[in-house]
Amino acid sequence: MTAGQSADADVPDVFTLTSVLDNRAHKVIDSELCAPHACDIGRYEALCGHLVSPAPLVEEDGAPCARCAELDPTATVEQPRRSRRRGWGLRRMLTA
Ligand SMILES: [Zn+2]
Repeated sequence: MTAGQSADADVPDVFTLTSVLDNRAHKVIDSELCAPHACDIGRYEALCGHLVSPAPLVEEDGAPCARCAELDPTATVEQPRRSRRRGWGLRRMLTA
């Protein structure tokens, strides 16, 4: 068997977009990103219904939208949560 073809054809790709309006990272499915109406107005409807005005990609993601996380169809499979934030646990508490 080859693992090349994706077996999850019924699960849409979900992207995370941070909105400049509420500074939250919302989930938007790929079909919405390509939708003509979304391209026209430059806003994308997130899973939670929020219209996302995307923040510049150079900016860090905002706090995740809880409602979007709840509704994310891909979240039930696996959650490879990768925090881009570096750990600060450098044990600097040893100052006597
Ligand atoms: Zn949301």
